[in-house]
This record gives sequence, structure tokens and C-alpha cells, in this order.
Amino acid sequence: RTAFSPEAARADVPILHRTVNGHPLVWLDNGATTQKPRQVIEALAAFYGSANSNIHRGAHTMAREATEAYEEGRAAVAQFLGAPSPDDIVFARGTTEAINLVAQSWGRAHLGPGDDILVPVLEHHSNIVPWQMIAKETRARVVPVPLRPDGRIDQDAYADLLSMRTRLVALSHASNVLGTVPPVRAMTALAHRYGAKVLVDGAQAVAHFPVDVQELDADFYVFSGHKLFAPTGIGALYAKPDVLRDMAPWQGGGNMIESVSFDRTTFAPAPHLLEAGTGHISGVVGLLAALNWLTAFDRDAVAAYENSLLAYARQALAEVPGLQLLGSAPDRIAVLTFTLAGHAPSQVASWLDGDGIAVRAGHHCAQPALAHYGVESAVRASLALYNTTEEVDKLVTSLQRLHAET
Ligand code: PMP
Repeated sequence: RTAFSPEAARADVPILHRTVNGHPLVWLDNGATTQKPRQVIEALAAFYGSANSNIHRGAHTMAREATEAYEEGRAAVAQFLGAPSPDDIVFARGTTEAINLVAQSWGRAHLGPGDDILVPVLEHHSNIVPWQMIAKETRARVVPVPLRPDGRIDQDAYADLLSMRTRLVALSHASNVLGTVPPVRAMTALAHRYGAKVLVDGAQAVAHFPVDVQELDADFYVFSGHKLFAPTGIGALYAKPDVLRDMAPWQGGGNMIESVSFDRTTFAPAPHLLEAGTGHISGVVGLLAALNWLTAFDRDAVAAYENSLLAYARQALAEVPGLQLLGSAPDRIAVLTFTLAGHAPSQVASWLDGDGIAVRAGHHCAQPALAHYGVESAVRASLALYNTTEEVDKLVTSLQRLHAET
């Protein structure tokens, strides 16, 4: 184990040492994507420098080595999520592709007229739109689960909306805009009483706190590597073994078949069934390096540090005149979304950029969640383990200058 400190994490991440607009970079856009430790960058260089090969085919040494690395990545993801076996893990391009995969494969087979898919109002568009698309085709309904004023999911409404018609509940383990961490385990247990399956979008959760899919009893769990210190273009889907074995092919092509003829094609078993074509092999290599990097730290220490940084930031931001934080649910990740009276969010973001501070402004792909607060756009600072109180101070100072000067 590596003792955790934000300085130890920072020391590994080269990009954090660059300047932007003449100022040391303050990267507070981790909800959009995280920066990469040199261990990940070096793993990619080593793969392309000395190990590149396609996998699962070709009886040569490098094909075998690449296959082993790919499968080691699968095993690492399984362990990271607490999944029973590597066979329960399907690689995908990211959260969005994994959700679409479940919608198109599982959804098409299991949804029909009059069925309900329950989706909390705080979900990211990628956990709303794929359900709307498959619902339209299957004549199922997407039913929004309302929020309370503090950004928590209304649990009474949820209990009322669940019924024997509910086939699926699709909810995020942590909201990318309000930071809310819902009681996923309890909500899953309740859904299961009605025979519904539960898909958990872990895109914003996995970098922040340890996840155990068996403890959650989730039927599906999805995440993106790039929000977890790994490259873009790689992510994963976990599905419960019995659910996964029952899933129909989605994309057809190489790797997912057992034999092909014009009379009859037979398919490989899961997870390969759901991985048509050449996968993102270097992405898996990078993901493996990222998981090794993150899990070398004491994850509980990381979560405790991020919580203290969040408390510090909430208090410091509250001092900025005209600043309004969205969402105040107590269980949350270190995401701070706010509006500043008299300034458009895009203006605030470009002002901060002038000071080398990267935040996001816009609707954060969660328009229904913002609509809940009566706004169309907001500024979001999203923190990671390598951010510091000094960086939060820079954010606050810059916002105070904006207020004073305009
Ligand atoms: N769900 C949540 C909660 C997210 O924050 C994001 C990324 N902003 C996504 C899904 C989509 O992830 P990706 O774009 O990596 O597929």
C-alpha cells in the first residue's frame, strides 16, 4: 500500500504541474474527466512500444501476451467492483455505451407494452435517453422519480411508483450535477420485491468511494474509465451472472461468435458475446494501470479526505456573495454546482479559466435535475483525490474578485 496524501497523488499526475493562462493549473473538472497518473501514461507507451498485438486470435507470443493483459484487466475490474468472476464483466466504450448495450440487449428482450422503467430526475442524459429510445420501440414507459428540494430522491414517491409493472430501475450511484449519493442498496432491495432489475450508473462513484456490486445487489453496474484516471474509450458493464447469461447478442461481428455459416451462426458465451470486434486493448491496459494506482491507496482514507475537502469547499464558497449552491443532501460526493447572481455560468467559467482554474459550465447533461432548481445552466467544480484546500482557496479568491470587480 501507498500511504494516501493528496500530495502523493499529485506527484504522480504530470498534467497537474502545467500552467494555464500563466497560472498553475487548478483542475476542478474531474466530473467531466480525470487526469492521468504517469503509471497509466507509461503503461500505454509500453504497450504500443513493445507489446502491441490483437487478442484472442493468432497463435503467436505477442497475441498471447496481449490476451493475458486484456484478461488481467477484466479480472482487475471484477475485483474492483466486488464481482464474483471476471466472466461477469463486459468491456464497453464507457458508461454511455454500456447503458445502451443493456437497453438494446436486455431491454429489447424484457420490456413490453405497459412496462415501467423508473428513472430518478437527477440522472445524466445517458441514463435517460437510451431508456426513452427502447421504451418507444417496446411501448414501455419511462417514469421519472421526483426529487426533494435538497436533491435527494423522494423515497416515498419511489415506493409509490414501484409496482408489478416495474421492470427496471436505472439510477446513478452518485449524481454528476448535485453530487447526491442515493441509498442504492435499500432502493435495490425494494425494487427486487417487485421483481424489477436495477441498473446502477457508477460513472461518478467509482473514483470516490469503494464499490461492492454484490453488497449493493445490483443487477447491472456501469462505469467509464476516463473518470477513474484511465484513458477515454474504455469502460465496463457488470451484470449478475444469471442476467448476463440470459442476454441476447447486441452488435454482431468477430470475437462474439463460436461458428459462422450462411445456414446457422452460433455465439460465444458472455462476456465475449457482447464484445463484437476488436476491443480497446490499450484502453484496458491503461485501465488496469489506473486501478492498480488508485487501489494502492487506502480507499477509505481517500474518501475521508475528499469528504473533508468537500466540507471545506462548501463552507468557503458560502462566503462568496451571491453564490447559490444547488443540492444539499448530506450523502454526497465532492461535486459543487452553483450559480452566481449577476453572472452567466459561462462567464464565470471563462473568468476562472483566466486564473488557470478549470470548471464546467452548462447543463451538465442533466437538464431535468437543473430544471428541478429552476435553472438551465450552472457552474460545476468537481473535486478528486489530488485536489487541495489551496486550490479551493484559489477558486474562492477568484470568485470573490469577480464579484468585486464587476
Ligand atoms: N452518467 C454519469 C452520472 C456521468 O457523470 C457521465 C459523464 N458525465 C455519464 C453517465 C456518461 O459517461 P461517458 O460520457 O463517459 O459515457
